Amino acid sequence: MIKVVFIDIDDTIFSFSGFVKKTMHDGFEKFGLKPYTDEMFPIFEEINSELWRRIEQNKLTLQQLRKIRWNMVFKELGITFDGTLFENYFCTELRESAIFEPHALEVIKYLKTGYVLCVASNGPYEQQYNRLKIGGIDTYFSHFFISSAIGAGKPDKAYFDYCFAELRDNGNEGLMPEETIIIGDSLTSDIAGGRNYGMKTCFYTKGKKCESDHKLADYIVSDLSDIMQIL
Ligand SMILES: [Mg+2]
Repeated sequence: MIKVVFIDIDDTIFSFSGFVKKTMHDGFEKFGLKPYTDEMFPIFEEINSELWRRIEQNKLTLQQLRKIRWNMVFKELGITFDGTLFENYFCTELRESAIFEPHALEVIKYLKTGYVLCVASNGPYEQQYNRLKIGGIDTYFSHFFISSAIGAGKPDKAYFDYCFAELRDNGNEGLMPEETIIIGDSLTSDIAGGRNYGMKTCFYTKGKKCESDHKLADYIVSDLSDIMQIL
C-alpha cells in the first residue's frame, strides 16, 4: 500500500516550458534582442535538457550550467548578447514564477488527504521553496527534498537514501520504497531514480500520447488528473 508520494516540481507541478516561453518573449524585448518566435523554444529545450542530463550524471554543476546555458542558446540563435546577464534575469523571473501544469493544484489537494506528500526536485532550494509559496501550496508538503539542500540529486541513490532517512525519522518508521511512489516528467531522473530505488513510478507525459511501454514506469499518465484514478 502506498503511504508516501514524491512529486517533481518542474514540468510536473509547475509548467517550466510555459515559463521559459514567456521569459524568452519578455526578456528578448526587454534587452532589445530579436523578437522571440516559437521555433526558438525547442532550441532552448534541447540545450537545457542536455545540460540537465550532465548534471544528473554528476558531470556538471548547477553553477556551471548557469554560466554557459544562455551563451549556448544565443550562439545557436545567432544572437550576440551576454548569456550570463540573461541567466540572471531568467533566474530572477523563475524565482517568482508559479504557472501550474493543468490539474496540478487539484491533484495536490487530493493527494494531501490520503498520503504524506513530498516534493522531489533537482534545483536550488530557496528558489524552489519560494515558488511553492507563491503558488500557495507549500503547506501541502511534509518534506521538501530539493537537491541543493541535500548535496545529491535524482537519480542518485544518495539522494533517495537521504529522503528515506528523513521520512523514517519523522513518523514513517520502517518505511519501505515499495510503499512510496514518485511522479515526474523525466525518465532519466524521476523514473530511473525511483525505479532503481525500488519505488513505484508514475511518468507524466505532459499531454503527449505515449506508446504504453510498461517497462518505462509502473504508470504512465498524460493528464495529471489520471493520478486520482491510480491513488
Ligand atoms: Mg521535471
